[in-house]
Order: sequence, then C-alpha cells, then structure tokens
Amino acid sequence: MKARIPVAVLGATGTVGQKFVRLLTDHPWFEIAALAASDQSAGRPYGEVVRWREPVPLPERVAGMTIARSTPPLPARIAFSALDADVARDIEQGFAKCGAIVVTNTRIHRMDADVPLLIPEINAEHIALIERQRTSRGWPGAILANPNCSTAGLALALAPLHAAFGVEKVFVTTLQAVSGAGYPGVPSLDILGNVIPFIGGEEEKMERETAKILGTFGDGAVEPAPIGLSAQCNRVATVDGHLETVSVELRRRVTPEEAITALREFRGPESVRALPSSPATPIEVDPRPDRPQPRLDLERGNGMTVTVGRVRPCPLLDLRFVLLSHNTIRGAAGAGVQIAELLVAEGRVE
Ligand code: NAP
Repeated sequence: MKARIPVAVLGATGTVGQKFVRLLTDHPWFEIAALAASDQSAGRPYGEVVRWREPVPLPERVAGMTIARSTPPLPARIAFSALDADVARDIEQGFAKCGAIVVTNTRIHRMDADVPLLIPEINAEHIALIERQRTSRGWPGAILANPNCSTAGLALALAPLHAAFGVEKVFVTTLQAVSGAGYPGVPSLDILGNVIPFIGGEEEKMERETAKILGTFGDGAVEPAPIGLSAQCNRVATVDGHLETVSVELRRRVTPEEAITALREFRGPESVRALPSSPATPIEVDPRPDRPQPRLDLERGNGMTVTVGRVRPCPLLDLRFVLLSHNTIRGAAGAGVQIAELLVAEGRVE
C-alpha cells in the first residue's frame, strides 16, 4: 500500500477544525501529522483541549497528539486552514512561503485574482491559477480556497442551470444554522426562539464568490460570470445546515421538469467523480412538497450532496426552488478535503 500523505490542520480545535479531524481520520490518502491552534492551546494534548462535538468518539491517536503552534514548518505537505479569519492571512502565507499547500476555509484569500476558489465539480480547471500564484508571489507552496458555506450550496445548484440555460439574475434568501458562526458562536439567548436578519459580510461574500466560481478560466485569469445576484442572509435556530430559497431568471424560458433534469444529471468531470470525498450525486432533487429539511436531509452523500426541492415557476423571475447544504462539510471541511484530493489526483502534491 502507498504511504499516506502527511497533512496538518490549522485551527484544529474549532468547529471546522474538528470536522477536518473527523474526515481525515481513516482517510485513504491522507494522514493527520500535525494539529495546530492558538498559542493558548499549543503544547497540550489535543484530547485535553478540544471540546469535541462530533457524534463519533475522538480517535485515541489524535487525542494524544500535542497541539502545535500555528507557525511553519510543520511535518505536512498539505495544511488545511480552519483558522479564525482575523489571524489567517499571515499564517497561511507563511506556510505557502515554506512550501506547504494551504487549502483554506477562511475568507482572506478567496477573492485574490491568483487564488483558485474551487468547487471541483464546477470549476476544477481553475486549479491552474496556482501556477500564476507561484510566479506572482514567488513562493514554492500555494493557497487554494473553498467558498463560504452559504455560497457552496447556491453555486452547486446554479451550476447546471447556468450551463444549460444561462443564469442571468438570482434572488436568494438564506436560513443559516448556528454552527456557521463557529463555537461558541451566537449566544443562546440571542438565537433561541428567534431569527437574526444579519450575518456580517455574508451577503457580499455570496454575491462575489458565486460569480468567481461560475466564471470562465482563460489566459491565467478567471472572468467572473455576469450574473446579477441579490442575497439576504439570516441566522436561524438550527444547529447544522443552511437552507436557501432561490429565484432565478434564465436566458430562455424553461419548465420545472427541464430544470429538474439538468439538476439531477449534473455530475462534474469524471476525474472529480473518482475522488474519495465526491458524492455519487452532487445534487439530489426531492419531489416531496415539504423537503428538504435540515434535520432530515443534511447527511445525504456524507454531507457533500446538496438537496434541492420545490422546483416550480416563479411569477417574477423564471424559476424558484429551495436548497439545503451542509455548512461544515460541503461548505467547509468536506470541501477542503475534496480540493486536496483533486491536487493529489492531478499530481500536484510531490
Ligand atoms: P472557531 O470554532 O471559532 O475556531 C477557530 C479556530 O482558530 C480555533 O481552532 C482557534 O484555536 C484558532 N485560532 C484562534 N486564534 C488563533 C491564533 N491567534 N493563532 C492560531 N489559531 C487561532 O471557528 P470555525 O467556525 O471553525 O471557523 C474557522 C474558519 O472557517 C473561519 O475563518 C470561518 O469563517 C470559516 N468557515 C466556517 C464555516 C462554518 O460553518 N463554521 C464554514 C465555512 C468557513 P484555539 O481553540 O486555540 O483558540
């Protein structure tokens, strides 16, 4: 058997960091070689520091690992970043300067012109931006990003519609789970029995990132997709899973049945389908009138499948539907692991 590739998790004690630890334990290609967090946590055993909230036992080997400081080098070729965004810039760049490939969940580098913002089923070819990045930044490593959690589900549902019919305008309203704010996140007295109609920076992220992900790649640059997008983001009292209601205007008139067929048939390129984290079907369409629901539909495709429901005509634009996406898997750690798998499959990890 080929040796597994040593990887590190930065921000390993947080909500997304823990999800990385869970997904990387027993991963067929990767082995956790280092766990890093803030200086307050460094030097202590992971199992003593972490408030483990995954619904599986913390693996003994991982529990016994000593948390490292988030400074390079670490004994890993790939570093998954689940760092607090306020501290991520210097740390992530420091690792890239030392030759590590950083796959980041943070917003810091997502919109940089030389950083690929990837959903492999949609835009795997954008990965070639790292060659431009290495030249322009002069570092041997690389930084690649996965999108914001609410953008991931939306971009996946829009991708087949955009490819088949051309998306021109989008209105999206989100109902986002509390785990999207990390731990301890939103105080319980603010959110229980309540809805908070504001998530700082989220609407702007959805609007910018979706255009970059669905954009076209050529001459070493991404041309953003010319889609008008208006997002309204709300925090609701669910634990995991972002629900989004979407209305779209298309370049031509389309029946709900045509749209459902495009969504159901969407697979992404063959090379991406073969990755260990890729679900068999990136999008499932549920015909039941009261689905998808976070409590019932979140774990499809091990959290990597986006569920779409209620596809119907829109009296203002052309079509409307509801989607559900797992914010800490498809919208965070699962997305990062899938990007790293793509790097390996393309022979980009020496
Ligand atoms: P979180 O639970 O608050 O975890 C933050 C992590 O950053 C902890 O491991 C913390 O370590 C570490 N950290 C804080 N200050 C540090 C410092 N000065 N040096 C090194 N490490 C430091 O946050 P999260 O929800 O997991 O989010 C992590 C990142 O992913 C954020 O940038 C977030 O925007 C992004 N993201 C989150 C989601 C989601 O659904 N939650 C989805 C997509 C993207 P200590 O425990 O030692 O303090």
